Amino acid sequence: MERKPMICPECHTKLERKDIRPNWSCCPGCGVHVRIAEQWIIKQCWIGFGTAILLLFMIGPGIWVSLLLLFPLTVLISILLGIASAVVTPPKIESDVPHGPPPGSIGFLRK
Ligand SMILES: [Zn+2]
Repeated sequence: MERKPMICPECHTKLERKDIRPNWSCCPGCGVHVRIAEQWIIKQCWIGFGTAILLLFMIGPGIWVSLLLLFPLTVLISILLGIASAVVTPPKIESDVPHGPPPGSIGFLRK
């Protein structure tokens, strides 16, 4: 399966997986700071959480074991889902370039 590229939101350069780190990294095309959008990561965690509950419900190890397993299982599924879905659909990339006037920017103050 061919991987869909991740695209820089500013200059639309194709970003390699190695260019993207969990923290901010520089776009090789335009040099702005880019990273995987937080919303995308949060979405993965919610899906992982839901899947973990469903899985524990199906296995049915009992309420206490379920509670104990819920967190590590959520993390595990989130990571696996993140890897799997990153192959199918590229993660959303966000840059630190503000769109629209930033609040309290000096450039917009009247003299
Ligand atoms: Zn760029």
